[in-house]
Amino acid sequence: MITEILRGDNLSPAIDALKKGEVVAFPTETVYGLGADATNSRACQKIFEAKGRPSDNPLIVHVLDIKGLESVLAGSMPKAAAVLTEKFWPGPLTVIVPSNDTIPPLVRGFMPTVAVRSPSHLIARALIAAVNRPLAAPSANRSGRPSPTRVKDVWQDLHGRIPYIIDGGDSLVGLESTIVDLSVVPPLLLRPGFIGLEMLESALGERVLIPGAETPHKAPGMKYRHYAPRAPVIWINMREDHHIERAIVRLQKKFPNMALMAPGKWQRMHSGSFVTLGDTTEDMARQLFSGFRELDQRKPDAIVVVWEENDRGVGLAVANRLGKAAALEVKEEGPEKQVTE
Ligand code: AMP
Ligand code: MG
Repeated sequence: MITEILRGDNLSPAIDALKKGEVVAFPTETVYGLGADATNSRACQKIFEAKGRPSDNPLIVHVLDIKGLESVLAGSMPKAAAVLTEKFWPGPLTVIVPSNDTIPPLVRGFMPTVAVRSPSHLIARALIAAVNRPLAAPSANRSGRPSPTRVKDVWQDLHGRIPYIIDGGDSLVGLESTIVDLSVVPPLLLRPGFIGLEMLESALGERVLIPGAETPHKAPGMKYRHYAPRAPVIWINMREDHHIERAIVRLQKKFPNMALMAPGKWQRMHSGSFVTLGDTTEDMARQLFSGFRELDQRKPDAIVVVWEENDRGVGLAVANRLGKAAALEVKEEGPEKQVTE
């Protein structure tokens, strides 16, 4: 199959393809998505095939607004869904609710619930409106690879496998949406994202639990390896500069061809491949996946990332993605102790 890249002002071929049950990669504010008509099981099957995605890993259904949510919901709207969608839609928040029969079992991972989000990206919205159907769209990468935040990332993973990729520039958020399960009480944060835990809790006026820490519940699909470049990722999760410096030197000895992703001030320590991470956690979120992909192309023997974990706002999401990608995390163990690898 020949893959064509479409400009954002030329959506008709993509709209026609989606109406005919084909898949199309398109930009959203989180990452690029690989979309199909969410009510068409055979169309959605092509998403799984193009990605190499296991069929028990459900897809997120994209709608325009709360009416779109109502159209796939079984029963009455949960109060929490009304509150959160009013506050955060359109935007990077996915809600899990009981599903009616509009959405085929394959899209739901054969569960009675469905994941729904309303993207704010104008191209994504134009497609949903024109096709006049909810669009199922996971990230437009081969399964297990870092999510794509640029057109070239989608091309790298999926060219020859899908008919169209729509160019909408680089993703603003750079990490996948926050997922909150509202089919249970209290709500569960299944995946952290740009909408932080404290934002959800303050909107709802109640606690939102994190699976694992407080419950055994896990999101389906989370068991799979995610977000990983080919080279092993080593995360230096430290605050003190002199500890970071020592860790970098040790790792350089162990991995002579290592690549470094770090705040700009660490470039002086590394003559090999380097990607600068911005100063804020939002910058880090935006650049993490593209940084992985850039460095991976240079075939390093390790990708070392310097970033100190925090749990504010998008910090929880960055820590989650980095934790999943990392083969090794190097932490500070107090001023006297040597770092352990
Ligand atoms: P993505 O790969 O970004 O499309 O995200 C899809 C993820 O959403 C899945 O891997 C699940 O973790 C989660 N998800 C989707 N549908 C459901 C559902 N019905 N119940 C629970 N989690 C879901
Ligand atoms: Mg994905």
